[in-house]
This record gives sequence, structure tokens and C-alpha cells, in this order.
Amino acid sequence: MKEIYRGKAKTLYEGEDGTCVMVFRDELTAGDGAKRAEKAGKGSINAEISAVFMQLLEKNGIKTHFISFEPPDRHVVKRLRILPVEVIVRNIATGSLVRRYPFKEGTRLEPPVVEFCLKSDEYHDPMVNEDIALALGLVDTPEELQEMRRISLKVNRVLSDFLREKGILLVDFKLEFGYDDEGNLLVGDEISPDTCRFWDADTGEVMDKDRFRRDMGSVIEYYREVKRRVCG
Ligand code: 5GP
Repeated sequence: MKEIYRGKAKTLYEGEDGTCVMVFRDELTAGDGAKRAEKAGKGSINAEISAVFMQLLEKNGIKTHFISFEPPDRHVVKRLRILPVEVIVRNIATGSLVRRYPFKEGTRLEPPVVEFCLKSDEYHDPMVNEDIALALGLVDTPEELQEMRRISLKVNRVLSDFLREKGILLVDFKLEFGYDDEGNLLVGDEISPDTCRFWDADTGEVMDKDRFRRDMGSVIEYYREVKRRVCG
């Protein structure tokens, strides 16, 4: 397969009939790539979890790039023009939010907080407002940001409800969007313990990439537990 793009945790290849094949690798990175490790099995665990989430979104009327899961570690996806914007939705204040603003760690955010960030390791994904997003040409119109916000909040409701049943609190997550050839705005990339914060609803235990970021240990064991609950 012809490689189109190699990111920090996935590689994108050209597929058949305008599709792409996204291969989930075992690498873990944090701090915009400054910290790296390889955890055997991580790629396939994330591929399986993300496939369940993408199918759940589709079932709830949210359009995504997902076409099919090819076990153990690949998704066939629609080819997208990915927007250089990350959309973050937060239900609980933690992570960079409490480092940057006077929020108390663990505060519930009602309504949820949505942030748009520039996707750039070099600039450390800075938050952008509408004017900066337009001036940088990240999007062409303010309506595109509003549409991403609307879809992201719907994704939050669908995922939060699903995960609550599995004893998992959806703390926050990051989404990426892109346009397909017909001009539809679709959810792209992945939704996994690499891109979300998951806390055990009873114990508050961290079940996501923060275990790696903060050297908490047992990274793969917790990813596996998320998979067990989500993929059942
Ligand atoms: P924070 O801004 O607190 O570091 O992250 C908020 C949420 O978005 C977390 O769930 C985190 O995993 C996700 N997130 C933010 N930026 C990135 C990123 O560049 N890559 C990945 N994989 N996740 C991100």
C-alpha cells in the first residue's frame, strides 16, 4: 500500500476506490511528541475501541469517516481533507484547563466547555478563537466552527451516555474533522484512550493516556479494561 501520511500513532495508506486504510501503531507519545514509548498491543486495542465508538456515532446520526474495521489494527476510512483544528470537549476540569485557568481540579463543567485548537506540535496546539481560525485560514467561515461545535456536543452526549452504562466517566476528549469529496463535514481520526480521558465511575481511577503522560504505570492493562467494557 502507498503511504500517504505517517502521524505519531497511526499511518495512513491509500486504499481502493477513494478510501484510505488507517493503521493503528503501538507507539505512544505525549508532550507533542517529546515523550515516546512502544506498548505491544496498544494499536489493536485502540483500533477496536475506536471502531465501536465510530459505529455508535453513525448509529446516532453523526457522520464519520469510518467504513469498516479490519482486525486487528486497521480501519478502512473515507478520504478526507482534514481541517488543522482540534476540537476539545470537557465535562470535568483537569489537564491543561486547570494549568491555564483558575479552575479547581475535578470541577464538573455544566454546560460542557468546547475549545478549538490549532493542530500544531510546533506551537503546542494553542487555543484559537473565531478570528484567529479565520485569519489563519483554518476554516473559511464562522459557520464551520459552529457546525463542529454542534457535532462535538452531540458526540459528547452519545459517548457519555454509552460510557456511563459501562461504569466509565467521559472526562474530556479531542475530535478532528474533515471534508469528504462531496463536501460533507465528517468526524475523522480516532476516539480512544489516546484521545479521551476516561475515569472509572466508582473509583475515579485513570484509564487513559494520562497513565503514560504521568508515569502512573499499567498503561496497557487499563487500555485493555476500557476495551473489555466498551467492546464487551
Ligand atoms: P488537555 O488539553 O487537557 O491536555 O487535553 C484535553 C483532552 O483532549 C484529553 O482527553 C486529551 O487526551 C485530548 N487531546 C488534546 N490534545 C490532544 C492531542 O494533540 N493529541 C491527542 N491524542 N489527544 C489530545
